[in-house]
Amino acid sequence: MWRVKGKKLNNLYVIILSTIAAVFVIVAIVSIFFTSKISELKKEQLNFTQSTAYMEETDFEYLRKENQFDEITELIGQNVKIKNLLSGLSRSSKALIVSSIPSGYPVNLNRVTSSFGYRMHPIYKKRKFHHGIDFGGKSGTPIVATADGIVAFSGYDSGYGNFVRISHNFGFKTAYGHMLKKLKVKKGDFIKKGDVIGYLGNSGVSTGPHLHYEVKYLNSSLDPKNFLTFNEKNFETLFSIEKHVAWDSLIWAITSQYSKVGLARLY
Ligand SMILES: [Zn+2]
Repeated sequence: MWRVKGKKLNNLYVIILSTIAAVFVIVAIVSIFFTSKISELKKEQLNFTQSTAYMEETDFEYLRKENQFDEITELIGQNVKIKNLLSGLSRSSKALIVSSIPSGYPVNLNRVTSSFGYRMHPIYKKRKFHHGIDFGGKSGTPIVATADGIVAFSGYDSGYGNFVRISHNFGFKTAYGHMLKKLKVKKGDFIKKGDVIGYLGNSGVSTGPHLHYEVKYLNSSLDPKNFLTFNEKNFETLFSIEKHVAWDSLIWAITSQYSKVGLARLY
């Protein structure tokens, strides 16, 4: 009886043990399956994130290129517009523009001792923006207005020394600094291009006799160098090198305004 009972008990153990083993095996298989599935999914997720990032980068690059393209198209469009407007100008209109916009040299000197832009200041010994150009020369050399205009300031300033500022047509201004005390014009005077306004000196913050010359458009300083060679013969260069002025609108205004009153025909 006991033997039979023992045999039955043995069988029961075998069944329990094999069931437990089977459960372990199943759990192991299932967990291996899920672990591999999870790592697969993780890999896919990483791939997806990477490709999304790449797509975003490509999108950004595309937008940048598109913007560049738009800018270039706009510039070409503007240049074409300006070229068309310029080709329609009469000789008299050109002469009027040259006399109204700062052009040519303010002094009969070609020695530029300091250019427009950042430089180490000779007195303050600091990197400072130089808003004009300097012409070195002999004290007493006559200085002339570079366009028709009205004298907005004539007097002394601690930095500029004896200096003159002239307001011109269409939003341009010029300034002439470090001159001798005997200034030839006073505030409110209407002057013509080429009129003598004063003489080269060494007044204000200056390390030697020189003229400091500025050209402004709507209170922004422009590089005067671009305006020095502007004349009726070399007429078109300025409009393509100086990008800070809305030339198309300005030339259109000059031609339409002056043709309306018939002024252009007088020149
Ligand atoms: Zn200067």
